Amino acid sequence: MTEKRRIAILGSTGSIGTQTLDVIRQHPGHFGVSLLTANNNSGLLIKQAMEFRPDRVVICNPGKFKEVDDALRPYGTKVHAGMDAVCELVADDGTDIVVASMVGFSGLRPTLAAIRAGKTIALANKETLVAAGSVVTELAERHGVSILPVDSEHSAIFQCLLGACGNKPRKIHLTASGGPFRTWDKERIAAAGKELALQHPNWAMGAKITIDSATMMNKGFEVIEARWLFGMDPSKIHVVIHPESVVHSMVEFEDGSVIAQLGTPDMRVPIQFALSYPERLPLDSRKPDFAELGKLTFHEPDPEKFPALGLAFEASGRGGNVPCAMNAANEAAVAAYLHDRIGFYDIPRIVAQCMERIPFQDNPSIDDIFATDREAFTMAEELIEKISK
Ligand code: MG
Repeated sequence: MTEKRRIAILGSTGSIGTQTLDVIRQHPGHFGVSLLTANNNSGLLIKQAMEFRPDRVVICNPGKFKEVDDALRPYGTKVHAGMDAVCELVADDGTDIVVASMVGFSGLRPTLAAIRAGKTIALANKETLVAAGSVVTELAERHGVSILPVDSEHSAIFQCLLGACGNKPRKIHLTASGGPFRTWDKERIAAAGKELALQHPNWAMGAKITIDSATMMNKGFEVIEARWLFGMDPSKIHVVIHPESVVHSMVEFEDGSVIAQLGTPDMRVPIQFALSYPERLPLDSRKPDFAELGKLTFHEPDPEKFPALGLAFEASGRGGNVPCAMNAANEAAVAAYLHDRIGFYDIPRIVAQCMERIPFQDNPSIDDIFATDREAFTMAEELIEKISK
């Protein structure tokens, strides 16, 4: 890489944010930090800013502004508060790549702002494409913006397609670890509390995505994400359970040939590739030892045990604002499950009801998407209220 790339990290104190900083730490000659934003974790944001010396930081919670500002004033870092500041500062000239790693629907607004400013997007926030795929991809096209996947499966597909010489795949095989409940029976899963659902076997991630992995809603979201990133009809996206999480996904061509991307489960690999693309840089990751692995296994997902996966295919098939409603209902339901207000299978139940009830809109605008999000979230909250009483 000839020029140093300046990176803005939205959600720098989360799992993807801290791992992105670990990548940047290993390549001070290639990457610098222009902007760090955090929702609430002021302590870690201050520590990160002291180490990486960004031009600016944003703490979204205005109640924590003074603490961050006092701590960083001696370092010359400008401190801002609130979501409007995030949306404004992502457009700064001093940024080349925006790492969109906020949690949930809240990542949509700043990602839209970054696209409008022509920034390259390293996308970790899949909810952005689930809720607003058509709007986001159209806008990116209009502004000539590349959306580079950070999600390990989509980075894998992206890497496989680099070797395809423009040939379109006939199928994508999206691998799934199966989460912590893969081998459990339905009754046992139904009774599981959040402590068990939060124990992902292979990947260390934030709480929201870990619950989404346990329900397999995460994989459903990834089907929709793949649809928009690679222009693939969901009927051509096949989800296959692969408990070892070594094959990160595969593409199959007309002649039956399949290209896969493999590696040990380490999110820093896809993060780094999104930042250094098209170059590859060294990384202190653990390299796969195939003899030690011995074998890799694959099987079909169980739709009875994981109904969320089917809901995502349904939402994607119906299109319009339905995936947005699904995402909003899921966000409300996962939060309620994490607060012990509802049971595990209430999550897909609530999502299904909201998908059913939301007034259908075929070609939603950005405003329609925000309205659907609010409406479906409120609808889900009402259902949660009834169940948890
Ligand atoms: Mg993934």
